[in-house]
Amino acid sequence: MRAERQRQKRAHSRRCERARQEPNPDPLVELHRKGELENSAMKTLKDAFHHTLKDIYYAENALVKALPKAAKAAGHKDLKKAFEDHLAETKEQIKILDKVFKSIGEKPEGEKCDAIEGLIKETEGLIDEAEGVALEVMLVGAAQAIEHYEIARYGTLREWAKILGEDQAHDMLSQILDMEKAANAKLTALAVHELNEPA
Ligand code: FE
Ligand code: FE
Ligand code: ZN
Ligand code: FE
Repeated sequence: MRAERQRQKRAHSRRCERARQEPNPDPLVELHRKGELENSAMKTLKDAFHHTLKDIYYAENALVKALPKAAKAAGHKDLKKAFEDHLAETKEQIKILDKVFKSIGEKPEGEKCDAIEGLIKETEGLIDEAEGVALEVMLVGAAQAIEHYEIARYGTLREWAKILGEDQAHDMLSQILDMEKAANAKLTALAVHELNEPA
């Protein structure tokens, strides 16, 4: 019985040794082997906060690149202006985020946000596929989807900042949250009073 267990143990370590030597295409498996995954995995609320801050930093920077395309595509002058104003506001938000990073002793950096990539891609699709009133109203809808994403992120982030005792970060994130809510309200007003009225 004991010999059998030892035989199984030897077979197991041979299998492990083979697996260690074979290259694995999954980068996570590679990291795990090198023992680096444990170190890179997020564990604490502070990790979650820092990661999500990098996510929204990436998103705001992606929007700086995407908003001019939306402004160009918009035919209605108020909608065009809304996109242009929001570009200026987004740049301001990035400066505030720089200060948030600083307040928690980290350097400002982004980490790919798949959600914003998807939302921007969807918006660019509309620009290709729609025109006239359809394009105008769908652009507003797409912009509102983006504002809602941002509102969700900043709402979460500022509460985490508070729990973590990062009061300065809490205040600055609340300031951005208010800007996003105002931007969303402006889009709603535009949709209801300007764009959706039958010609
Ligand atoms: Fe923003
Ligand atoms: Fe994201
Ligand atoms: Zn609060
Ligand atoms: Fe926004």
